[in-house]
Amino acid sequence: MTINRQSLRVRVCILYILFTVATMIGLGGFSYWYLDRALASSRQRTMEAREDRLLQFVNSWPDSGAPVPLAKKLQQLTLAIATTDIIQLYRLDGKPVFASPGSDELKVPWPDQDCLERCYGLVRQGGHRIRTLNHVITLDGQRYRLSLSGKIDEHFDVLNAIRNSYFLVCPLMLLLSVGGGFVLSGRALEPINRISVEAQSIGIQDLKRRIPVPNTGDELQTLAETWNQLLARLEIAVERLAQFASDLSHDLSTTITIMMTTAGLALSRDRSPEEYRAALKNINIECEATAQLLDTMLAMARTDLVHQKIEWKPINLTELVIEVSRQFQPRAVLKGQTIAIEVQDEVWTNGDLSLLRRMVSILLDNAIKYTPDTGSITVSLARRDDDYELRVSDTGIGIPEHAIPRIFDRFYRVDESRPESGESNGLGLAIAKWVVEAHRSRIDVVSKPGQGSTFTVSIPQVLQTKLSETAYAQLS
Ligand code: ADP
Repeated sequence: MTINRQSLRVRVCILYILFTVATMIGLGGFSYWYLDRALASSRQRTMEAREDRLLQFVNSWPDSGAPVPLAKKLQQLTLAIATTDIIQLYRLDGKPVFASPGSDELKVPWPDQDCLERCYGLVRQGGHRIRTLNHVITLDGQRYRLSLSGKIDEHFDVLNAIRNSYFLVCPLMLLLSVGGGFVLSGRALEPINRISVEAQSIGIQDLKRRIPVPNTGDELQTLAETWNQLLARLEIAVERLAQFASDLSHDLSTTITIMMTTAGLALSRDRSPEEYRAALKNINIECEATAQLLDTMLAMARTDLVHQKIEWKPINLTELVIEVSRQFQPRAVLKGQTIAIEVQDEVWTNGDLSLLRRMVSILLDNAIKYTPDTGSITVSLARRDDDYELRVSDTGIGIPEHAIPRIFDRFYRVDESRPESGESNGLGLAIAKWVVEAHRSRIDVVSKPGQGSTFTVSIPQVLQTKLSETAYAQLS
């Protein structure tokens, strides 16, 4: 983690250095080019002004009768204006007319063009750089070639001084900005480091913890919020896994208890072959139910524990209720209890056979568990208005009023010191309620402490018409 963070920091710095170097080169190059152009055009403007001055000086010479030679006029001009520029004047055939002092040093050749418009140039001579202006002009009514030239070494001295100072200052600036960039990127990445450390300290046991969200409105806030959303999803997933394990162990312990008591009862004394066959048949049915249960649970695990596939099939509810009640009979007998079955018509509905069997088993299991020895249990199935009503009543210990709203919650147990609480884990009724709701039905309870409880499942008769539909129920 540290290496990655460092490498990110280093990568940010390298990018920063590349960007800084590119900016410096670009800016330096542009400044050099711009200054060169500015100095050159300023020099050109000066030379143009000189030419204008010359034309004006010569052409407006006062007429005093005797003609004054052109060379003399130009000599007067060079005396009148203090300039370092060299003035050379030729006839159009190339014959020199005038050359100002110092022109021996600078022999500027006439360019290949005719220069009817001003021609500018830059030539090197004797280690000097010379800016030139060549132009065909009219003086005293005649056309001449005018050549103005001047050294511009200072111009390049300025440019070189600037370039040298730039090369001197640039590495320093680069060093400073890279150092600053390294420190700043370190500071910018520090909150990410804190978030990582915080996230690393959150274990599977404390998924309820959250990362502090900075109220900055930037990417760091988004990162912290994203982490927290991830933790919330993880928390739910882990909770569901734990519930899955509990559901499985609860259901397995119920079926194993039934098988053990059936086998124990069968083996308690010598029995006829029919009685043994009946006991084995009961155990076989439980085994099948357990295998189905495992299938269901694995399917739940595969479908991320949220969706449970409901296999809708026409089911003979009467037969199912009788069959499950008979399975519980041996357990009731062991406790000296009786199970009465009251069914009138044959009731058919649509639903998932294994889930409905689990639901009836849970209600009967509870009735036996929470009814003292010699108590009685009644299972009835009847038509009422638009519903079929399945009732499981007992003469057991009952449920206190305050606990009734909570008994369908997962892991809720009324009182752990109550009889049989060792076999209880508070999941049975939660599963039963989920099965009932998956069948678009309702479960209610009426109970009085010390007198007994009645659980009523109301299954709408319209379910009967829902043939072989596959649906998904949400596991709450
Ligand atoms: P468990 O599977 O552990 O029994 P349940 O979810 O089935 O848990 O039941 C929740 C609680 O409701 C139980 O702890 C028990 O106290 C109470 N309860 C359920 N059925 C009955 C009943 N028939 N008579 C009395 N109390 C009951």
